Amino acid sequence: MPELPEVQTIVSELDNKIKNKAIKSVEVFKFQSVRPMSKKFIQGVKGRKVLRVKRRAKMIIIELSGKKYLLIHLKMTGQLVYQSKSGKGVSGGHPIPVSAKVKQIYAYPMSGGVKPVGGLPSKFTRAQFDFSDGSHLYFNDIRRFGWIKFVDEKSYQEETGKYGLEPLSKDFTLTAFKEAIKRYSNRKIKQVLMDQSLIAGIGNIYADEADFAAHVMPTRQAKTLTAKEISDLHKAIPRILKLAVKMKGTSADTYVTTSGEEGNMLKHLKVYGRKGEKCRGCPGDVHWMKLAGRGTHYCPLCQK
Ligand SMILES: [Zn+2]
Repeated sequence: MPELPEVQTIVSELDNKIKNKAIKSVEVFKFQSVRPMSKKFIQGVKGRKVLRVKRRAKMIIIELSGKKYLLIHLKMTGQLVYQSKSGKGVSGGHPIPVSAKVKQIYAYPMSGGVKPVGGLPSKFTRAQFDFSDGSHLYFNDIRRFGWIKFVDEKSYQEETGKYGLEPLSKDFTLTAFKEAIKRYSNRKIKQVLMDQSLIAGIGNIYADEADFAAHVMPTRQAKTLTAKEISDLHKAIPRILKLAVKMKGTSADTYVTTSGEEGNMLKHLKVYGRKGEKCRGCPGDVHWMKLAGRGTHYCPLCQK
């Protein structure tokens, strides 16, 4: 699933492409993928202008005229494909189909960008937005866990309010971070970092990287962390996420930018996806285990 840096990359590129465009028409191919799950979705969105595209946690927010919003979550296989009037398609999220080169956790997008199956819309297209300038935005999703919600201001506030601290915002102070960690102090630190109601946007990749950077074992109970370890984690999280945003994210789990390119963060990862490879902090190897059902990468020598 795309995490903060990947979603931020998609958001920035999408903002560039669809900002100030008017939505002329909307087509929904699978109502299970939209909310409300009826023609009301189409009626609500149609005719509105895109004011801007932004992010909250791992959610893409398309701000529309008339104080309405489209909230989009790509989940495991979601993809947004922007197609200009000339028909050139670019997409962000997960390429479809997943490349045959998939091995363990990495999937490499097909060279030259993403080519949706069977043209556009494809059999995986759940919704289509047509802009008045002749361009289109397609929401594709193989597994249908992703969704698009059309909401008013009140629901928008509720939905975005469910999430915790934004690690790249000014609110992410050491005090606020300590408070967040304390809330479920019996939990393992990796689970705490990935809890979207505490800290927003961190998933499997960046939780492993943050724990490694702070020399903390992901299995440690949050309450056992020393002041120094908490402070190190607090410094590491925004530093890693900022670098990842700059690198346009990590192309693991088949994520690509809206230009159909791989993100460049992969080569900067210290432990994630490096099971059995040499640790970048000591002569040992990177280990792997399952923690709360998620593959977890760590170095038993560097992390305590
Ligand atoms: Zn090590």
